[in-house]
Amino acid sequence: MNQLPPAFRAQMQAQLGDEFSAFEAALAQEPPVSIRLNPRKRAFDVTGLEQVPWCAEGYYLPSRPVFTLDPLFQAGAYYVQEASSMLLAEAMRQTANLDRPLRVLDLCAAPGGKTTLLASLLSPDSLLMCNEVIRTRVPVLRENVEKWGFPNVVITNHDPDEFGKLEGFFDVVMVDAPCSGEGLFRKDTDAMQEWSMENVALCSARQRRILSATLSLVDQGGLLIYSTCTYNDVENRDNLLYLAENGFRNCPLILPADWNITEKLVDGAVGYQCYPHRVRGEGFFMSVFKKTAFAPAQRPNARPFRDWKPLRPRETALVRDYLSDPNAFSYWTKPNGELVGIPVALEKDLYHVHEALRNKGFGLQLGTFKGTDFIPDHALALSTALAPNLPGVELSKEEALRYFKKENLVLNEPVRGWVLARYEGLPLGWMKGVGNRVNNYLPKDWRIRMEIKEYH
Ligand code: SAM
Repeated sequence: MNQLPPAFRAQMQAQLGDEFSAFEAALAQEPPVSIRLNPRKRAFDVTGLEQVPWCAEGYYLPSRPVFTLDPLFQAGAYYVQEASSMLLAEAMRQTANLDRPLRVLDLCAAPGGKTTLLASLLSPDSLLMCNEVIRTRVPVLRENVEKWGFPNVVITNHDPDEFGKLEGFFDVVMVDAPCSGEGLFRKDTDAMQEWSMENVALCSARQRRILSATLSLVDQGGLLIYSTCTYNDVENRDNLLYLAENGFRNCPLILPADWNITEKLVDGAVGYQCYPHRVRGEGFFMSVFKKTAFAPAQRPNARPFRDWKPLRPRETALVRDYLSDPNAFSYWTKPNGELVGIPVALEKDLYHVHEALRNKGFGLQLGTFKGTDFIPDHALALSTALAPNLPGVELSKEEALRYFKKENLVLNEPVRGWVLARYEGLPLGWMKGVGNRVNNYLPKDWRIRMEIKEYH
């Protein structure tokens, strides 16, 4: 590992005292590898794997495989996530009522680690909005959300200042803030190179701006969760104080002592810090707050989706066959011809979202009609709402990887029409049998670009 910046060294020596040498030694080790399972796509065998103590779906792997070449990863059976940040699962379990439908905003969401974790935790009738301000980071967020396959997730692309029409709308707002990244130094040497006291101060001020735009979005009694992957007080402590002084009461968590997570007390508020020499994970900081200040009452009813048309009955009958619970959706055509399934339980909330924000995507992407032919969407193949008994072909690992290379497969048995490519029972995407050929409908942006030398 490169030399630590001297000012960072001094900061950590002051913060850790006698433990500093253990901290420094941990930074010279390989980071642990951990994954989090998709509770609605059970296929990964976890026999013999050690569980992440604070997240029921989190597991450590003994070494780092090439995830890109695992069809189960491509199918959304698991997400590769650094273990410390899964502490969010325990925080939500202790502070949110996960049995009732919640409106949740993940404000700084790309690439989607916290979003997919939140989606797994929330009740099915909850609304999860994940937002990423940087446009070029939205595609990776979208890909991860589509792979995870939960139809209750909305993706938006806005600055935190642009959510004003959703004041008081959310039961939980997660701010996983852009930070100086001290906690990722052993994984990300760029973060270490870019580190400076000036940059820490800039990050802290940016976080303050993001938080100040967030305060009014939380409903009275709702939660605001602030997290960073850094250790310094300028970012973490100062922003904790800011929240405590602006209408939020800090919520302590009860964490078992043998998890080795450090409690940092700031004027009566507490934040939880993971250090890499104390836990099997990277540096991570999190604190939970409850809104005590007034939030505006519920807004009047919004109008149904402007410019969208209810899907015609004949077409609706056709697409309903693709879903395990067709009555759970209403069916719409967007002006660009895309068909969308809207979870009925979320319809009124989504009217508001549609009116409030311009850059967004929501609902289950069903596909499009070309004449009378229905072309199912890739997102539909990966959705947990897909009917389980649709025609499909179980592929070998080699065939699955060739599918992800976007090759046209030669199958043992002829197939006709739309069929699912499946691997260990999980849908990977669509194929269409035409005569003797099977066309591969994987979207080209999803193609595996790396050269595959070994298919087994
Ligand atoms: N929550 C993500 C996860 O778990 O995978 C990681 C989020 S990362 C720590 C912070 C995110 O904030 C980045 O995606 C970054 O693009 C975004 N960001 C950067 N500047 C921002 C700003 N001014 N307002 C809101 N988000 C910002």
